[in-house]
Amino acid sequence: ALSLRQIKKSYGQHQVLKGIDLNVKPGEVLSIIGPSGSGKTTLIRTINDLEKIDNGEIVLFGENFIKPKQESVKRDVYQGIKRIGMVFQSFNLFPHKTVLQNVMIAPHYHDKNSSVEETKAQALFLLDRVGLLAHAYKYPHQLSGGQQQRVAIARALAMSPDIMLFDEPTSALDPEMVGEVLKVIQDLAKEGMTMIIVTHEMEFSLSVSDRVIMMEEGIVQVDASPNEIINNPNQSAEFERIKEFMGKVA
Ligand code: ATP
Repeated sequence: ALSLRQIKKSYGQHQVLKGIDLNVKPGEVLSIIGPSGSGKTTLIRTINDLEKIDNGEIVLFGENFIKPKQESVKRDVYQGIKRIGMVFQSFNLFPHKTVLQNVMIAPHYHDKNSSVEETKAQALFLLDRVGLLAHAYKYPHQLSGGQQQRVAIARALAMSPDIMLFDEPTSALDPEMVGEVLKVIQDLAKEGMTMIIVTHEMEFSLSVSDRVIMMEEGIVQVDASPNEIINNPNQSAEFERIKEFMGKVA
């Protein structure tokens, strides 16, 4: 579904991504973990062009390309990122629009073939799916953080994305709200959604993912299945490192 090749990115003199290669297959769930400042958020933001890359290329579904700055073909990037849903740490809902309007707004602008009634029916269906149908006509400030984040997930799903990106989706939540958001992500995984999740929730990353990527100082240190990490068959230094890291954070 997605291929990252030799992605490099610097802020001034500071090289944050040092040549990242990554392939994600359709239906695969990938978690990205690693210490603060290792480049996880920067990496996930390059995938939908929120950060421009300095080097490398991003291939979506074999056809849409993101290339370094000036080389990007705008139309191709635009077509590509429409197929990617993003959920941010801080929800980013429109405060003066209702929950329902928040979910309807993107398809309303982008999908000119659907009527308002169809868009609304789809939005209500998605709100039901994240357990928030009863809150459709409320405003974001009337909801808890966990509920707002579930609205943000429904909003991303409203564009029928082929891939969902999550950037630390539970980091801004009170502990008692974390579970309800992780449950929605877990359900999406079961339904076969292709996902990349930057997370500090170690147990969750092991239970939901097909592969766990550990980043350190702008490179991929470990790329392994949860089974390999838990059972650690080959006792190599890199597996020891990921277990040590996970143990420290968990
Ligand atoms: P965390 O787990 O704390 O969110 P992270 O692994 O997601 O960390 P990034 O947010 O990708 O790390 O940041 C990587 C490095 O890039 C950090 O040193 C950060 O200070 C730097 N950085 C990120 N965004 C910018 C920016 N817009 N301008 C300058 N430096 C930045």
